[in-house]
Amino acid sequence: MAVVVSIDHSLENEISQVFELQKKRAIQLRSAPLRDRISLLNNLEKWILNNRNAIQDAIFDDYRKPIEESGFSEIFPVVSEIRHVKKNLKRWTSDKKIDTPLFLFGSSATIKHEPKGVCLIIAPWNYPFMLLMNPLISAIAAGNTAILKPSEITPKTSALMKKMVSELFEKNEICLFEGGLTTSKFLLSLPFDHIFFTGSTAVGKIVMKAAAENLATVTLELGGKSPTIVDETANIKKSAERIAWGKLINTGQSCIAPDYILVHEKVKHQLVNELKKQINKMYGKGCDQYKHALSFGRIVNENHFVRVQKLTDDAIQKGAKVICSGENDKRTRFISPTILTQVTADMEIMKEEIFGPILPIIEYKHLDEVVDFINERPKALALYVFSKCKKNQEKILLNTSSGTFSINETMVHFSHQNLPFGGINHSGIGKAHGYHGFMSFTNEKSVLKQWSPISASKFLYPPFTHFKKKILDLMIKYF
Ligand code: NAD
Repeated sequence: MAVVVSIDHSLENEISQVFELQKKRAIQLRSAPLRDRISLLNNLEKWILNNRNAIQDAIFDDYRKPIEESGFSEIFPVVSEIRHVKKNLKRWTSDKKIDTPLFLFGSSATIKHEPKGVCLIIAPWNYPFMLLMNPLISAIAAGNTAILKPSEITPKTSALMKKMVSELFEKNEICLFEGGLTTSKFLLSLPFDHIFFTGSTAVGKIVMKAAAENLATVTLELGGKSPTIVDETANIKKSAERIAWGKLINTGQSCIAPDYILVHEKVKHQLVNELKKQINKMYGKGCDQYKHALSFGRIVNENHFVRVQKLTDDAIQKGAKVICSGENDKRTRFISPTILTQVTADMEIMKEEIFGPILPIIEYKHLDEVVDFINERPKALALYVFSKCKKNQEKILLNTSSGTFSINETMVHFSHQNLPFGGINHSGIGKAHGYHGFMSFTNEKSVLKQWSPISASKFLYPPFTHFKKKILDLMIKYF
């Protein structure tokens, strides 16, 4: 017991020291040249390219994520984000000249992009490399210092990122601390200027409460259930292909995975058959083969395995029909791609984010039911609509609220560098990626310069003479 306490204390001391060093450094960074940020980004890019195999292997060791999947969902988004930032950073950081209203004649105004200061970035396990690196790129781009806390659930990747950060950065600029709940809680007690958190909605609330103590600004990239609608006009083959891919990449453990399907009753049968075909095309000729597919990963740990299995069991017990599934294996944490029909809203699987390869399907008759169903639940991070009918697309777009919205596609909006990425309310606060990520770590400082010998406000200084009252009347009437 005594040993544990002393370890915690030494870690707390180390974190506190680094925090103080970063606070000092953050002030110097405000006036540092842009080329310093670019140089950090260049070093980061080079390290990633030189160590691509080690990164992919670490993620594979953590939860058997296929190497190619890591290539396009962990390495590519990070290097392309770095390149996008480098290309645009000069433009993003330049002062923005602003028009001055007539009644403030004699002054000029600009918006300066100032780094927020010392930032905390907390990441989840489900894209363990990319979800720590992408906010780091935004933090560096905006000129901040940062302390990073990866997930304890993917320890191999976290250890490799720690090595990377210690090789690339001075700890007074960027530093990484591994650890779970206690490390995270201690970090959250420090007065950071900005906290960028990616993880569950439940922990997001804890982070926001902690941030409120210091009035730190927050970006919360959270989760939830992302509905997928397939109407009677949709191209069913293409819909099934894109939904199956989006659902099963990362073994269903993606924050923007299509969580469940609402399908028009007329096309339900056809959609289920196509989904089965597409899953077989991707992962084997039948359910018993999915287990051997090299392109299919595993559930991250036993807790999550049991959780997903329980959700499925509850649904089956309450009347859901299993359309396609293989035998799950607790030892290897394999959960077979599974389609469930005859699903109802009272089943547990419809109450929490699934985060596994299980696809529940609910039928509808009228699109109004779909709109009501979505609006009765917390706002989604992603909403997907498959339809050829513009009127239906528009109806869902305009009558629901979600962080992101895709028509006839799943997942790929994440990699669109010019689109803001993030949720709304329960699915998140604030945005990430490209310019929007840069802005999350930036304070838009308003700068007003008075260059005229007579300030317009002089006309409003007391005493309030008849002349000044007349000026006030004119202002209210005309400006
Ligand atoms: P999580 O919320 O359990 O953990 C995220 C991080 O918070 C980890 O680093 C963890 O150590 C830390 N943490 C956990 N409990 C904490 C507490 N009580 N106090 C302080 N810190 C704590 O999430 P997870 O299981 O790692 O990730 C899965 C969740 O993340 C899903 O809900 C998913 O939808 C969401 N997610 C969202 C996005 C997005 O971009 N919006 C991306 C990926 C994952």
